[in-house]
Amino acid sequence: MARVMAVANQKGGVGKTTTSVNLGACLAELGKKVLLIDIDPQGNTTSGVGINKADVKYCIYDVLINDVISNEAILHTFVKNLDIIPATIQLAGAEIELVPTISREVRLRRAIASVRANYDYILIDCPPSLGLLTINALTGSDSVVIPIQCEYYALEGLSQLLSTIRLVQKHLNTSLEIEGVLLTMLDARTNLGIQVIEDVKKYFREKVYRTIIPRNVRLSEAPSHGKPIWQYDPKSRGAEVYLDLAKEVIGS
Ligand code: ADP
Ligand code: MG
Repeated sequence: MARVMAVANQKGGVGKTTTSVNLGACLAELGKKVLLIDIDPQGNTTSGVGINKADVKYCIYDVLINDVISNEAILHTFVKNLDIIPATIQLAGAEIELVPTISREVRLRRAIASVRANYDYILIDCPPSLGLLTINALTGSDSVVIPIQCEYYALEGLSQLLSTIRLVQKHLNTSLEIEGVLLTMLDARTNLGIQVIEDVKKYFREKVYRTIIPRNVRLSEAPSHGKPIWQYDPKSRGAEVYLDLAKEVIGS
């Protein structure tokens, strides 16, 4: 039965998509069966694993709004063991269209239930907001991975995310846990990064992953080739650290 993990932080540009794609692909490389679910209307996870959005028949929008069965929306990627339910720009309407619908917060959880047995890990890449799509992800997950960028305002806004997690725990998903906090985009040349690491560790303690993701230009190039880092440049530092993270996730 898959462990379902939401990759969430309402801040944009902190490494949610990079982590979903590359943690997913590295878990797959280690022989785990992985399903990515893209619930960001920008669909960067979808294109990041080489899916051409113009070829997508059913996306997560159809699953959430039109009751398309999850299995019909699943696509195999060119990476062995790595499948995806894609997102297209159509999903942009879902945030509003979900508002008046019945059981609007639990639709993703229901959609996952029917495919859960087929995977070891399901990773949900969340949009940069705390709206109904992210609520659906948190409600449908066992745990949440929180990427935090090693920069000056790193901890700003986190209290909002944590209070949303607490609300979901209270009302929608009592077993939701914090899986781990991932420090991303560390620039080892500045002292600032070191300070942020200390602050985050003080706050989240043992929840912080040992693996810290450095800035690595190959990680930022890979999406434009539609490839996870392991497939784009397995010898890069970026590939090495995301493989380390995958091992840490499996081990925990
Ligand atoms: P989010 O999904 O949280 O908005 P992304 O994963 O899309 O964030 O990352 C934002 C930008 O930073 C993207 O252009 C991505 O390629 C780049 N990026 C992410 N992680 C790294 C990294 N470790 N090193 C260099 N660039 C990165
Ligand atoms: Mg993203």
